[in-house]
Amino acid sequence: MSDQPLYGFDTLQIHAGARPDPATGARQTPIYQTTAYVFRDADHAAALFNLQEVGYIYSRLTNPTVAVLQERIATLEGGAGAVCCSSGHAAQIMALFPLMSPGKNVVVSTRLYGGTVTQMSQTIKRFGWSAKFVDFDDVAAIAAAIDDDTRAVFCESVANPGGYITDLDAVAKVADKAGLPLIVDNTSATPYLCRPIEHGATLVVHSTTKYLTGNGTVTGGCVVDSGRFDWSASDKFPSLSAPEPAYHGLKFAETFGPLAYTFHGIAIGLRDLGMTMNPQAAHYTLMGIETLSLRMGKHVSNAEKVAAWLEKDPRVDYVTYAGLPSSPYHDRVARICPKGAGGLFTFAVKGGYDSCVKLVNALEIFSHVANLGDTRSLVIHSASTTHRQLTPEQQEAAGAGPSVVRISIGIEDPDDLIADLDQALSKATA
Ligand SMILES: *Cc1c(COP(=O)(O)O)cnc(C)c1O
Repeated sequence: MSDQPLYGFDTLQIHAGARPDPATGARQTPIYQTTAYVFRDADHAAALFNLQEVGYIYSRLTNPTVAVLQERIATLEGGAGAVCCSSGHAAQIMALFPLMSPGKNVVVSTRLYGGTVTQMSQTIKRFGWSAKFVDFDDVAAIAAAIDDDTRAVFCESVANPGGYITDLDAVAKVADKAGLPLIVDNTSATPYLCRPIEHGATLVVHSTTKYLTGNGTVTGGCVVDSGRFDWSASDKFPSLSAPEPAYHGLKFAETFGPLAYTFHGIAIGLRDLGMTMNPQAAHYTLMGIETLSLRMGKHVSNAEKVAAWLEKDPRVDYVTYAGLPSSPYHDRVARICPKGAGGLFTFAVKGGYDSCVKLVNALEIFSHVANLGDTRSLVIHSASTTHRQLTPEQQEAAGAGPSVVRISIGIEDPDDLIADLDQALSKATA
């Protein structure tokens, strides 16, 4: 899908996938606000429906604005292709859908976005799928959890909510040895800070709602395929390797090679699950990505300053930011996300649950919202909100215990953020 020459990241975040509009010469990618596309003639329509020719049929499957975003994210991640969807959670279901069937399981990290814990531990059971939760710092435990019915391994690169760094190379080795795809949620890092495919990931998923769009305007998701997994190496992935009855016995892996998973995502996933991204959302996300590297650099430098200040403050018990030299994950930063550990971390307030609630109420610049990856600084007390549905044990395992607050550091003036935290900590611990 990506035929771009090897330009630098800052160039690709603006140009990859886009070209002047062939109809008008418009320099900016137009919002193709259309549901359907006129066929040249009946033969053209038949070829499109047979997947013999690539083109636009109906916007539940493909749309030119969304296609530019797909190619841009695929290029930035170093993947072969990508499929955008209506949200990050939709992307996770879309990523698993071609791999799973009733009775099959996915081995997942305990350190995940709260909604993902619920999706994986509860909701996927309705499809007859299940998830096994494992501490991904324990590589032997991942290998031990994999059984004959396991179809994928799933983790986050920079993991919610603590900003922990997963040793992707080590996890990929385990998945590879078992002949399984590794799916990495790269939402918190973005391809500017971390490129999971270079560490052995098969698939990368995103909530584009967060840093990729960057300013809290639209929800969206994306599944990127590395194009490197051999779906026909075993009989575990018949959706991709065996004849597909809905397309006259076509075999995706044989017909589309490195684009098999991407074509399956469009021709089966979007066609039948309908979790489609709309062109307006794609437009906002394309606008966001144009400045991704500038924003991520500032998120990181702000987070480093705020985390260092918090760590020294006597009203704070500990700070989890992997960018701090004191973090047990610090030595993974240079290898996994060399441009920085992101803008997301937790800290524990002396006084526990009650102090956290008071702190959240007293902050003025920080907004109390269930979101992250915004230009604005955001705060949430995970135990009373995003991780509320979890058991106390699940909360602790996820790094979202009752005495910790999660912050997503924005790109404001760092001195103002520190002053705001200072006054709120005084009120919270008075
Ligand atoms: C927000 C988020 C999701 C879910 O994405 P939505 O766009 O809200 O559906 C998944 N993973 C991570 C790491 C997230 O931050």
